[in-house]
Amino acid sequence: MSETTIAQNMVVSFHYTLKNDGGEVLDESSGDEPMMYLHGHDNIVPGLERKLTGRKVGDKLEVVVDPADGYGERDPRGKQEIPRAAFPDDAPIEVGISFVIQTPDGDVVPMWIVGIDGDRVSCDLNHPLAGERLHFAVEVMAVRDATSEELEHGHPHGPGGHHHH
Ligand code: ZN
Repeated sequence: MSETTIAQNMVVSFHYTLKNDGGEVLDESSGDEPMMYLHGHDNIVPGLERKLTGRKVGDKLEVVVDPADGYGERDPRGKQEIPRAAFPDDAPIEVGISFVIQTPDGDVVPMWIVGIDGDRVSCDLNHPLAGERLHFAVEVMAVRDATSEELEHGHPHGPGGHHHH
């Protein structure tokens, strides 16, 4: 087995189960295909990435991530109502879908649709998991060097990674 350890600019594949404080499963890697990310490029929450540093294939770990190192604290000012007409005609409008908006400062930030009432779409700047303490159970499946193209893009390619069309 490879003794390569996880470090900056390596592509890491891992299986995971994510639970909240109550033990409810919020998310997990599906079937045989592990989650893949590029280490050191903000692909995954910082609290988990930090704990994966120095790990190797076959390592299993349980990581508890506080909101500040996860999806952030919940900001009650994050909610906004946006008229449906403000969305492009072909935009999918469904609860749970995220999209990006440009702030007056020119930053591009994600928003999530959290409710729909007629012509009014309730949106939230908070990630759906903001404010949650995250309980990850992780198994490292593969570690390799990133290609120069992956480093340029800031994410991995291939199965489980980013797909370009
Ligand atoms: Zn790419």
